[in-house]
Amino acid sequence: MAGELIISVSGLRGVFGDNLTPEVAADYAFAFGSFLRSCNLNIAKLNVCLGRDSRPSGQILADSISSSLTKIGINVINLGIVTTPTVGIMVKHLACAGGVIITASHNPLPYNGIKLLLDNAMAPPPEIAGLIKNRFLKKDFVQADSITSGTVSQNVDADDVHIEKVLAVIDQKAIAKKQFKVVLDSVNGAGGRPGIKLLNILGCKITPVNTQPTGLFAHTPEPSAENLVSLCDEVKKADADIGFAQDPDADRLAIVDENGIYIGEEYTLALAAKLIFSTQKGIAAANLSTSRMIDDIANAAGGRVIRTPVGEANVASAMIKNKCVIGGEGNGGVIDLRIGPIRDSLVSMAFVLHLLAQTGKKLSQLVTQLPRYHMIKQKFPADKSKIQSILEAVKKIFPDAQVNSSDGFRFDFADGWIHIRGSNTEPIIRVIAEAKNESAARKYIETVLNIVKN
Ligand code: MG
Repeated sequence: MAGELIISVSGLRGVFGDNLTPEVAADYAFAFGSFLRSCNLNIAKLNVCLGRDSRPSGQILADSISSSLTKIGINVINLGIVTTPTVGIMVKHLACAGGVIITASHNPLPYNGIKLLLDNAMAPPPEIAGLIKNRFLKKDFVQADSITSGTVSQNVDADDVHIEKVLAVIDQKAIAKKQFKVVLDSVNGAGGRPGIKLLNILGCKITPVNTQPTGLFAHTPEPSAENLVSLCDEVKKADADIGFAQDPDADRLAIVDENGIYIGEEYTLALAAKLIFSTQKGIAAANLSTSRMIDDIANAAGGRVIRTPVGEANVASAMIKNKCVIGGEGNGGVIDLRIGPIRDSLVSMAFVLHLLAQTGKKLSQLVTQLPRYHMIKQKFPADKSKIQSILEAVKKIFPDAQVNSSDGFRFDFADGWIHIRGSNTEPIIRVIAEAKNESAARKYIETVLNIVKN
């Protein structure tokens, strides 16, 4: 089942006990720590935050990583089970040299992974990720001696620090006044505990579903429609205003409306943008595969959207460079730099509740008022060596489109767009099309499919 261990800019991912063993985790931490030591030569002792999602295998990997980091003279601040954005927030809050997050995000339980953060709370850029990978492959590690060994300490403030930051950017009183009925499904991941804490502070009446951090996922963890049937039922049963679903490391959020209807992850960023642009102009950033809804929302407010290659760090970097007021990805990942440069389900929940309170509307009404698009996502197997020639062939059939070639090709037309890119980790081409209606979106997809087939 395992296939190969995947090492990318965002870290390492594999199947625990198969290709992702405690020894592999130990070496990866040695490589990361050695890199940090090599670029902080004049600092006596470095601190690194370590957090994990709730997968049971995370404890074993955390022990390995802790052990390696202390052996090379780094102090580990263990945050325990926390969300992915929480680790980033604590890296900055505690002025650490870096962070390590043990998570395989939305992947099934047998998987786990290790994500690395630099002192800016962002994943290493490709050139640094390459240096760390080289150290890992060549076992090019530094070692501490009896005096310079690192220490391990526990920090239990992380949830509170994170929640404080979220509360600082929303109207807590306006939300609390509404006493929203909320169903929260955390899939027994890391998001349940801080999620409930935040929603309690926001005066919500909560129906918790799968909010224990056991790591025993109650359903397939990807927060997509087919996996959230029970959440939709719970929302109806509880006569709730809204249902929220987090993925296991709680960076992504999917939403169910008051009728128990899953509205789709693209709407999370659109609703967040709606709130932000209701009071200010400015620039947003979104990756090339994200719905055009955000452009319509930003344009209507006198703002605009910068499109970036796929990948959280690409969006976050563009946000910092352009001082963006909001950003994220269409997979339910919202980034607000005031919280941190990482997708965050907690701020996403708070933004959507704030928007409900501010407008006095039901969620289904808000969704109806957003621009309507139909999106189709497909993937086709393609030999890695042929991906570039396929992309070039596709380019020729859309000569009149506006083209963005920063990550594969995105072609924009008056009524929609299509984005075609080779996967970084698998021999496949991903194609996403969006248009005002389904037949137009399907036509774009079929045009590309014909090229791929030939
Ligand atoms: Mg995730």
